[in-house]
Amino acid sequence: MLASSMALIQQFSVPIARGVRPSHRTCLRSCTMAVAPSSTPDLSIPSSTRDSSSQVLLGLSEKELQQVALDLGQQSYRGKQLHHLIYQRKVREIQDLYQLPQAFRNDLQEAGWTVGRSPIFNTVTAADGTIKLLLKLDDSRLIETVGIPVEDDKGSVRLTACVSSQVGCPLRCSFCATGKGGFSRNLKRHEIVEQVLSIEEVFKQRVTNVVFMGMGEPMLNLKMVLAAHHCLNKDVQIGQRMITISTVGVPNTIKKLASHKLQSTLAVSLHAPNQKLRETIVPSAKSYPLDALMSDCREYFLETSRRISFEYALLAGVNDSVDHARELAQLLHEWGHGYHVNLIPFNPIEGSEYRRPYKKAVQAFVSALESSKITVSVRQTRGLDANAACGQLRNKYQKSPLVTDPENMGSQLPNMDLAVTC
Ligand code: SF4
Repeated sequence: MLASSMALIQQFSVPIARGVRPSHRTCLRSCTMAVAPSSTPDLSIPSSTRDSSSQVLLGLSEKELQQVALDLGQQSYRGKQLHHLIYQRKVREIQDLYQLPQAFRNDLQEAGWTVGRSPIFNTVTAADGTIKLLLKLDDSRLIETVGIPVEDDKGSVRLTACVSSQVGCPLRCSFCATGKGGFSRNLKRHEIVEQVLSIEEVFKQRVTNVVFMGMGEPMLNLKMVLAAHHCLNKDVQIGQRMITISTVGVPNTIKKLASHKLQSTLAVSLHAPNQKLRETIVPSAKSYPLDALMSDCREYFLETSRRISFEYALLAGVNDSVDHARELAQLLHEWGHGYHVNLIPFNPIEGSEYRRPYKKAVQAFVSALESSKITVSVRQTRGLDANAACGQLRNKYQKSPLVTDPENMGSQLPNMDLAVTC
C-alpha cells in the first residue's frame, strides 16, 4: 500500500529548551492454538493517534543512529551501540538501554525519541510450533504476525516471519478473514520491522526468512514495505533472497518494484486461471485484468531475472478441478517461463462459503500441472483450529469495525476504483 503522505523521512519537533535537532529526518496464515490472552483488553481507538512529535529509533540505520548520538552531544560510537541494542538485543524502552549513560538516555527521552516497539497483546501457539502474535500499535490497532519454524532435511530449524503491511486490507478477497475485517491504515516502517524482532524475541531465535503475506496488500504500501525491506536486510541482516513480497496485483506497482532490482522473490496471488473466475474470488481483479497482470509479471522476470512464484488458493469445487489446472498451465506457458506455482489448500474460516479441497483433488491438480511441465509445490498447512487464518485472531479481539484513516490512504490505490473493487 502506497501512502505518499507517509514520508520515509519523518519530520520531528524537538523541545526548544534542549536546543538539539536531529539532522536526519529522518498467510501461511494458519495455526492450531493455545491462547495466552491479556486480561481485560482495552482496545478503544483513541481519536488522535501517535504524538506527531515522537521520533522512532527503530528503522534507522547505524549511520543515522550515530547522527542521533552526535546531535545529542555524544560520540558517534554511542550510535553504534544504539544500533546493536535495538536490532540485536531488541531493547524495547529508552530507559532499558542500560549500556548507555543515564544522561544520554534522558536526553533521548526528552528529545522525544522512543524505540518504537509495540507490546505483544496476545500469542497463540499451534501444536506444530507456529506462533501467531497480536501486536498492539500506538493507536490501539491490532496487527497479526506469525512465526513459523520449519525443520529442514539436515535437522536445522528455519524460522519464517509472516509479516503484515497494513492494518486490515481494503481489497477484500472473498476467502480472506483480513479482507472481511475492513481496513484502517498502512503500517509504518518500524511497525513492519518490529514484527520480525518480536518473533525473534518469542522464539529466542533469529528469523531466517520473511514473507510479506500477513494482513494487507504490500503493494498498496510499497514505500514503507521497501523501507522495511531495506532495514530488514541491512540492519536486521536478513538476506534479500530470504525475503518474499506478495501481491494480489495492484496496477503499476510490479514495474515499480522491478525498478528496485531486489534479489527477493515476488509472489503473485492468482487463485484462478481466467479473468471471469478470478473476479469472483479477487474483486480487485476487475481493475487489473489478468492479461495486464501477466504481462507485468513477464516484464518483471525480464527485468530482474528473478523467478515469480504464483500463489493459488485451492477452493473446493470452485477452482480446483483438473481443467482449471490445465488452463492455469496454459496461461503460464503463454506468458513466459521460469514460473513456479505454490498451491495453498484453503484453510476454512468462520462464515466462509468456501471449503477445503480433498487431498485427492489437490493431488490431481498437482499432477495436471506437472504433466504440463509447471513446477509446483503444495504449501503445508500449519494447524487448522480456531483463529488459524490470516486476520481471524485480530478480528476476534478488534470487534469494532476498522475505520479508514484518510491521512494514511494517500494515493495508495492507483487506478483502482474501490467502489467497484470492494
Ligand atoms: S488475501 Fe491479501 S490482498 Fe486479499 S484481502 Fe486478504 S490480505 Fe488483502
